[in-house]
Amino acid sequence: MPRYEVTIETDACDGIFACLTRDPRFVEGADGLATIDPDGDPIYDGDGTVTDADGRVVATFDDDRIDDAKRAAAACPTDAILVREVGE
Ligand code: SF4
Repeated sequence: MPRYEVTIETDACDGIFACLTRDPRFVEGADGLATIDPDGDPIYDGDGTVTDADGRVVATFDDDRIDDAKRAAAACPTDAILVREVGE
């Protein structure tokens, strides 16, 4: 199973929320910008870790949903989302 990291550069995020409809782990944060909640997916149990610091939300997952995260990244009009594999 690939281990992967999802980053939101919140300075680049403008709250359009195209990401939310591609991957339900993306949610609206208290600041009106996107953040990541591993429990936001109603189908899968949350199993990722998330940090939010210095204008960057970074989540690490170890599951088969990397394509959902990539779809969210591709839909983001400001390229605020980066998805990269970080190992097995
Ligand atoms: S699609 Fe991009 S700009 Fe829009 S809320 Fe999601 S991360 Fe932010």
